[in-house]
Amino acid sequence: MSLKIAVIPVTPLQQNCTVMWCEDTMKAVVIDPGGDVDALKDAIEELGVTVEKILLTHGHFDHVGGAMDLAEHTGAPIVGPHKEDEYITTAVTQRGPEFGVSDGRNVVGNAWLEEGDSVTFGNQSLNVYHTPGHTPGHIVYVHLDEKVAQVGDVLFRGSIGRTDLGRGDHATLIASITQKLWPLGNDVTFIPGHGPSSTFGEERATNPLVGDAVVG
Ligand SMILES: [Zn+2]
Ligand SMILES: [Zn+2]
Repeated sequence: MSLKIAVIPVTPLQQNCTVMWCEDTMKAVVIDPGGDVDALKDAIEELGVTVEKILLTHGHFDHVGGAMDLAEHTGAPIVGPHKEDEYITTAVTQRGPEFGVSDGRNVVGNAWLEEGDSVTFGNQSLNVYHTPGHTPGHIVYVHLDEKVAQVGDVLFRGSIGRTDLGRGDHATLIASITQKLWPLGNDVTFIPGHGPSSTFGEERATNPLVGDAVVG
């Protein structure tokens, strides 16, 4: 019944592409394959896992740019994010080059996810929560038994996601963090879209932007 996790930073933005797999079945999901697909293929082969699904947290190019290439390589479907991010999952070839990333592809043919959905691989299950604010269609994936979450660009160790891009909204992001993430428990470890992991409890105690002392 055990969950295994490998984090592989990709693109010049060092986006945390996350491979989660079921040790019993060696079936895996790859969350946010933003780029550097050759390195991801190597990692998947080295781990010896079979990719069942490619999951996306939100539509930004550094999270989705490699999804189509990896889907074609593995035969796995692309699942997520929420449909509200379609305006950016289909604009990767416009946005990426502005940040020096020109090999990303627009995502087409993916399945959308909503609050309350779950995603399975092997004997494992991830719950989906809709957490807008950084982007309107941002979702997070939470393994409730193992208390591990992949939260994309919603929350970082010591920081929160930017809300000055496109359709971002600060108050909405704060509400997503305090009303969707915090109730999951202080002992949940999260992998953010960029940088080191932390726990919800640690952020509630110390985060200068969304800690309990700041947002009450
Ligand atoms: Zn983002
Ligand atoms: Zn990002």
